[in-house]
Amino acid sequence: MIKKSKNIETIAIHGSLEHSSGSRSVVPPIEVSTNFEHSEAGHQDGDYLYTRHSNPNRLQLEKVLAELEGGEACAAFSSGMAAIGSVFQAMEEGSHTIVPEDVYHGTRKTLNTFGKRWNLEFTFTDMRDLEQVQNNIRPNTKMIYAETPSNPLMHITDLEKVCALAKTINAKVCVDNTWPSPLNLNPIEFGADLVMHSTTKYLAGHSDILGGAIISAKQDEMFDRIRTIQQGQGAVPSARDCWLLCRSIRSFPYRMRAHNENAQKLAEFLSDHPKIKEVYYPGLESHQGYEIARAQMSGFGGMISFLFDGTEEESLKAVASSKLITRATSLGGIESTWEHRRSSEGDQSHSPENLIRLSVGLEHPDDLIEDLKQALG
Ligand SMILES: *Cc1c(COP(=O)(O)O)cnc(C)c1O
Repeated sequence: MIKKSKNIETIAIHGSLEHSSGSRSVVPPIEVSTNFEHSEAGHQDGDYLYTRHSNPNRLQLEKVLAELEGGEACAAFSSGMAAIGSVFQAMEEGSHTIVPEDVYHGTRKTLNTFGKRWNLEFTFTDMRDLEQVQNNIRPNTKMIYAETPSNPLMHITDLEKVCALAKTINAKVCVDNTWPSPLNLNPIEFGADLVMHSTTKYLAGHSDILGGAIISAKQDEMFDRIRTIQQGQGAVPSARDCWLLCRSIRSFPYRMRAHNENAQKLAEFLSDHPKIKEVYYPGLESHQGYEIARAQMSGFGGMISFLFDGTEEESLKAVASSKLITRATSLGGIESTWEHRRSSEGDQSHSPENLIRLSVGLEHPDDLIEDLKQALG
């Protein structure tokens, strides 16, 4: 077990409130300056030089994110994809990564498009099957990448076992923890080296900030390379976005708990619905990965995927019939959204033609169930 200084609600609030502004304001000010005064000797004086390298609001954000995941260090980015890109760019050239076959479609596209150019080898693997993971190990395997639950099929990876396997070959484990969020899962506890977040989702929680982060268990060489990429390539969040994200994170644990509760209710409703063939939600006992999910997660998150009993066209029509649930991609907002996943993923999609993905928001669950009843028919 990692040792956290305090409980998550307290970390979420106090982890980003410290600041050194002269006004003694309770909430840190937004510091928009792009540059910081030199010492008399003509060089950097204190933590800041130029805002691409760092600034007070980004430091507050990185501190609270590192504490939420129990890591030693964090680098914040302008999007989740910028954060993921930094991990692959930080790998040794010629190294090999094992990637889940149903990895986030943006990650798949980046690897398929740039993997070769970056001189990286990778193998897409069913991460539920440890034997398959083991069989895909090569002499140059330097990282195992995981995402649990996966998107959109909600496959559950046994993190403790995957991390143990990685240790035997001296490979790192990076976990995309966007869907569970730090309330429900802390991969570092199970031995992960790097945790990635699209902070655009639950941490921001209101569909109005794009952002990403890499949290590292250790302040090590790999993290130093990620930091160099962050500061050098400059895909960094603005001071205003860092400030707003810190504001959102202060209420995140309570929001997330309500996402968990609402999603459980909706998943149970959908399981009994005659027009639904299958529901993928790790909080259902019928889910294939339920036992592992229950052992490693403290809640099951706000995302549900399900198969509609109908064609692609009929599935699209059901999605178009909602009155409350917004037809949109992305997830993690306080407003519920859903989408026909294959249409939204485009030509590299692996999603079944009748799969609908629902991001359960914080409306009253009874109102959401009413809307589902009328839309699904
Ligand atoms: C959204 C998302 C990303 C990409 O993050 P952006 O902030 O959109 O760049 C990566 N992984 C998962 C699981 C996501 O849901």
